[in-house]
Amino acid sequence: MVRLRKMSELAQTHVYAKMESFNPGQSVKDRIAYHMINRAEMDGKLKPGSTIIEATSGNTGFSIAMISAMKGYRCILTVKDKASEDKIKMIKALGAEVVRCPSSVAGDHPESYYSKAIQLSREIPNAYYLNQNYDKGNSEAHYLTTGPELWEQSEGRITHFVASASTGGTISGAGKFLKERNSNIKILGVDSEASILKQYHETGHYDMPDKSSSLEGVGKNIIPANVNFDIIDEFIRVSDRDSSMAARYLARTEGIMAGYSSGAVLAALWQLRSQIKPGDFLVVLFPDHGSRYLTKIYDPEWLRTMGFLNGSRPEELKAKKVRVQG
Ligand code: PMP
Repeated sequence: MVRLRKMSELAQTHVYAKMESFNPGQSVKDRIAYHMINRAEMDGKLKPGSTIIEATSGNTGFSIAMISAMKGYRCILTVKDKASEDKIKMIKALGAEVVRCPSSVAGDHPESYYSKAIQLSREIPNAYYLNQNYDKGNSEAHYLTTGPELWEQSEGRITHFVASASTGGTISGAGKFLKERNSNIKILGVDSEASILKQYHETGHYDMPDKSSSLEGVGKNIIPANVNFDIIDEFIRVSDRDSSMAARYLARTEGIMAGYSSGAVLAALWQLRSQIKPGDFLVVLFPDHGSRYLTKIYDPEWLRTMGFLNGSRPEELKAKKVRVQG
């Protein structure tokens, strides 16, 4: 965990980041890949010669590809076509096969990356679909590792845990552990503008959003079994633009080059600022490293194409005079 000096100064309290880029596969997803593969081996679902299949926006794929290479499994990953080119190249470098699927279709559409993973796992002999959205090994990995680490590394002082939710494994598993230790700890989820999680949490139903999002690892258009809505106090919705700007702000003010969803978490923290009191101990989770987004948020041309350089700057960027240039 790293203290965010500027953020702590602005919030006038303790703000720490749990830096998941320090894992061997450089993201939070090592935790679940390792746990789910070990469990599948113990249950006899994976044996020598098996093929591991997963639907993944990239980071889970990298961790699974890494462990598959070590253990000698064939690995096939279905990926949304919005996943960054950098991530796809990294997965391929580890010997995994990648099948690109359209991002814009509903989760149950036959062309979606979920449907494709199911189809492949049926067609290929000895194939096993890990299924991070529905396999409870995902949130369990965070209950067993991330939660205890947050508790120990904050010396039990944590008052707020802020994390983006996609499969929901991180926030639900770590959040459950923290609530068991101290039920007053606020568990805050970060959602995108193209997601149904916030609406479902607040109303118990959802309408499919007509927007799309360039964020990876923030929000869902299905309700994964790994989201434990009961332990999440609130979802904060952030825009793609604010998330991009927040990540760039982080790089230039804290010297931490984190991923796009880390920017989303920081943008959410900014929205929460009126709720923060002196003495609070906030921990934000940064799922991966910024080097995976060189062709996205760290590319001024991409920002321009996305229209993120138009309009007024968020207040915090004005205050710090952060320039969005090369
Ligand atoms: N950020 C990134 C970059 C991710 O890859 C993921 C996982 N897809 C998340 C955040 C969200 O984590 P979770 O799936 O545990 O909700």
